[in-house]
Amino acid sequence: NVAPLGHNVIPVVNKLQDIFAHLESSSIELPQVAVVGSQSSGKSSVLEALVGRDFLPRGSDICTRRPLVLQLLQIKRKPDGTDEEYGEFLHVPGKKYYDFNEIRREIQAETDREAGGNKGVSDKQIRLKIFSPNVLDITLVDLPGITKVPVGDQPSDIEARIRTMIMSYIKLPSCLILAVTPANADLANSDALQIAGNADPDGKLPNYWCDNKGANLDIMDRGTDARNFLLGKVIPLRLGYVGVVNRSQEDIMRNRTIKDALVAEEKFFRSHPVYNEVADRCGVPQLAKKLNQILVQHIKTVLPGLKSRISATLVSLAKEHASYGEITESKAGMGALLLNILSKYSEAFCSMIEGKNEEMSTA
Ligand code: GDP
Ligand code: MG
Repeated sequence: NVAPLGHNVIPVVNKLQDIFAHLESSSIELPQVAVVGSQSSGKSSVLEALVGRDFLPRGSDICTRRPLVLQLLQIKRKPDGTDEEYGEFLHVPGKKYYDFNEIRREIQAETDREAGGNKGVSDKQIRLKIFSPNVLDITLVDLPGITKVPVGDQPSDIEARIRTMIMSYIKLPSCLILAVTPANADLANSDALQIAGNADPDGKLPNYWCDNKGANLDIMDRGTDARNFLLGKVIPLRLGYVGVVNRSQEDIMRNRTIKDALVAEEKFFRSHPVYNEVADRCGVPQLAKKLNQILVQHIKTVLPGLKSRISATLVSLAKEHASYGEITESKAGMGALLLNILSKYSEAFCSMIEGKNEEMSTA
C-alpha cells in the first residue's frame, strides 16, 4: 500500500517546482527523474507508456530537441466513468489541452520556436503538466538523446553539447536517472549506462537504474540472459532494472494503442516462464510503482538540505530589505514572499512525512 504515500507527498513537490520555475535566481535543486539514453533507444516510448497516452513527438529521427519537464498529476476518477485527462503548458497559461494530438503539436511548435525547424537543439525547458486518473504523481524530464553525427542545423560538437545538457540534469544529487537501453543492444556499450556512470563516478550519488527495453525479447533466444540482466548479475545497479516491452514501429504504424500494448506486455511476461521469478522487475506498471517509491524515499533524504537552503536565502533577502529600509514591490520583495510560502510548504511536507512514519512504525 505504497501509492497513497506518494499520492500525498508528491503534489507538494510539484507545487514547489512550479514556484521555483518563476524564480529566476533559484539555485535549489528539486528531486525529479530524468530519462537518458541514445537517440531512438525508446525514451519517449517509456514515458508515453508511463502516462498511458500518445502525446510525444517521436520517430526514428531526432524529435526531443529541448528538455521536456513533465509533471504527472493524479486526479479523481469520475463516478460516472467519463474520466477526463488533459495537459497544461507553463508557456500557455490557462489553456487545457484535452486532445493529446494537440499536445504533441504544441510541443513540436514550441520546440521550433526556440530551436528552429531544422533539427537544432536548445537547453531551454518546455514545462508540461498532465492531469489524469491513470497516473502516479511523478515529475519526469525527457532529454534529447545522445547522437554522434551532426545533422541539419546542428553544430559539429552536437554530441558534446547534448552530453553537457544531460549532465547538467543528472549530475545533481537530487536527480534520479532512468537510463534506457534497448534489450537487443549490448548492455556493456550502453550510452545510457555510460553517461549515468559519469554522473556517478564513485557509485555514490545519484542513484541510477536501467530500463531494459524489450525490443524483440520474444524472438530472442536470450531469455536467461535477460533474466540475469534484470537481476543485475551482468552490470549491477543500485536501484536495479525493470524490463519493459513497448510498441515497435510496426505497432505504431498499425495504430496499436498503448492500452493494447500494455495488455500485450503483460501477456508476454506471463507466457515466458523465465520471467516468473523476476516478475517484480517486469512491466510498465512495475516501473511506475518503483519510480514512485524511489522518489518518495529520495525526497525524504534531500528535504533537510532543501529547507536549510530556503532559510539561508530568506535570511539574505531579509538583509537586502533592511538595506532598502522598507519592503517594496521590488523583485526582492516578491522573492521573499515566494520563499516564505515555500518554507511553509516545506514544513507541511516534513510533518506529513513524519506523521506517515509514525503510522508506519506503530502499524
Ligand atoms: P527515443 O528516441 O529514445 O525517444 O525512442 P522512441 O521511443 O521514439 O523509439 C524509437 C523507435 O523504437 C520507435 O520506432 C519505437 O517504436 C521503437 N521501440 C521503442 N520501444 C520498443 C520496444 O520495446 N520494442 C520494439 N520492438 N520497438 C520499440
Ligand atoms: Mg524521444
